[in-house]
Amino acid sequence: MIWHKQWIFGNWKMNGNQAENAALLQALRSVSNNNAHIGIAAPFPYLSQAVDLLKNSQIVIGSQDCSQFAEKGAYTGEVSATMIKDCGAKFVLIGHSERRTYFNEQNQILRKKIDNALACDLIPILCVGETLAQRQAGQETAVVGEQLAVLQGLSVNHIAVAYEPVWAIGTGEVATGEQIAAMHAFLHKEILSIMGENVTIRTLYGGSVNANNAAEILSIDKVNGALVGGASLKAEAFSAIIANAQTE
Ligand code: PEP
Repeated sequence: MIWHKQWIFGNWKMNGNQAENAALLQALRSVSNNNAHIGIAAPFPYLSQAVDLLKNSQIVIGSQDCSQFAEKGAYTGEVSATMIKDCGAKFVLIGHSERRTYFNEQNQILRKKIDNALACDLIPILCVGETLAQRQAGQETAVVGEQLAVLQGLSVNHIAVAYEPVWAIGTGEVATGEQIAAMHAFLHKEILSIMGENVTIRTLYGGSVNANNAAEILSIDKVNGALVGGASLKAEAFSAIIANAQTE
């Protein structure tokens, strides 16, 4: 069912505290849209709080990352996929551009994270996207193609990928409709060729999505949802984006 809806997912990044989270989630817990699968990627310490506050709502909680290590043990500071699942989370973002930039995460490590998420029944959402310099050099599909290669040999029937051009994240600059349509067509074609024709795909666009541009972005062919950073921290803006999810 969720694999045929538009996915509207928020990414809080390193924001929030117990009081702010409670206020935001109280305001969001009654949102509903049958065309939408709604999620929020919260910081690790607040996963359980967010899961509790969203009980019986349409919104699921996930994390923004998980450890590359599968087993429990001597990995100080790490949080395993199993622990995230144990908190009631349903999904995990993998390879967000901020993880790639600040922690040099690349395919070898990202594949371990994907495998760990799948092993405990968390949905991995693989984030891909090119930098401004790479787009200006005409390398966007080559870069994203290389990032998608992490999916090779994965045996699942469903996959979710968020396309987030790095130059559009948190900048207020949104990719054009043509750029979004071209990349999403590429994503679908490439994923089918890597994973086989029977895989069900959700591709989300991310990068300065807000209440004003969501309707237009969500109506672009092969855009199956949105990953929303800054605007997911405001109940009114995130609700307005959710309201724009539509049947495909
Ligand atoms: C993000 O962090 O995934 C994101 C898309 O951020 P923003 O919406 O703020 O550009």
